[in-house]
Amino acid sequence: MSTDPKLDTDSVSLFEGMPEFLPGWVWLVGAGPGDRGLLTLHAINAIRQADVIVYDALVDKSILSLAHSGVVTEYAGKRGGKPSPKQKDINLRLIALAKEGKRVLRLKGGDPLIFGRGGEEALQLVEEKVPFRIVPGITAGIGGLCYAGIPATHRAVNQSVTFLTGHDQTGELPSALDWDALAKGSQVLVMYMAMKHLSSIVDKLIAGGRRPEEGAAVVCNATTPEQRILVSTLGEIVEDLEKTDLAPPALFVIGDVVKLRAGLDWLGHVQYGKELISDPLAAPALHETVDA
Ligand code: SAH
Repeated sequence: MSTDPKLDTDSVSLFEGMPEFLPGWVWLVGAGPGDRGLLTLHAINAIRQADVIVYDALVDKSILSLAHSGVVTEYAGKRGGKPSPKQKDINLRLIALAKEGKRVLRLKGGDPLIFGRGGEEALQLVEEKVPFRIVPGITAGIGGLCYAGIPATHRAVNQSVTFLTGHDQTGELPSALDWDALAKGSQVLVMYMAMKHLSSIVDKLIAGGRRPEEGAAVVCNATTPEQRILVSTLGEIVEDLEKTDLAPPALFVIGDVVKLRAGLDWLGHVQYGKELISDPLAAPALHETVDA
């Protein structure tokens, strides 16, 4: 490795050359999974210029406080089981605000185009000829797993990872998914919104040939101070979860990458001095643990 002396000299200021938020535009921006530190510069650039921020339930309030004092914030949270604005109403609201000449920031948890309906909102803007920009964010399935010390891929374990959702528009298990194919075809599955149907998902995967001893984890409130994780096996996770008070938002991870947490839980090590082992794949079988 060599050092590059040029890096020391040509410094640019943080927002130099970044896009200007023009009136009448909508920016669809991913805020990442929770931790403010996972915002992108584009996201902060957007937050600092917006007139109105229409934000989701999973966006941390401390992120909104980065905006200027004159900003108007509107909550458009959609959480399962609770009354929430209809997607159509959110779309219409974004269009109305843009047509009033506002700089409209639609701030969404994670990445706007991963199980976030960002595409639907953007297509509505296209129809109404409202100009827009999309800023990606760190999706929970990647950033959240990293904070849990569970790599989405690890060379000795998996060469594929599948992101999927545990329910579709109707709130039921997605009927378009072929569970047998998923069970056989993807070494690691990372499931969003899987808590409601966890038990049927587990049954379908085991029926499709997945080993009950395989690692499985539920990662709640990832990257936030409330992050909590249940590590178990596919065969036991439903029962183990019942003994806890873990609740959504949560990711359900299936695959032996879960075992690596015993060696890679860097956050537990930093925060609580948790002891890490360097050969987690060789460690004995997984047993139930819930920890921060
Ligand atoms: N667009 C978002 C996903 C929105 S769907 C993204 O890219 O991350 C909402 C689901 O995402 C939740 O039900 C949960 O499954 C997952 N999720 C979002 N934030 C999370 C977090 N901090 N911890 C765990 N799961 C999270």
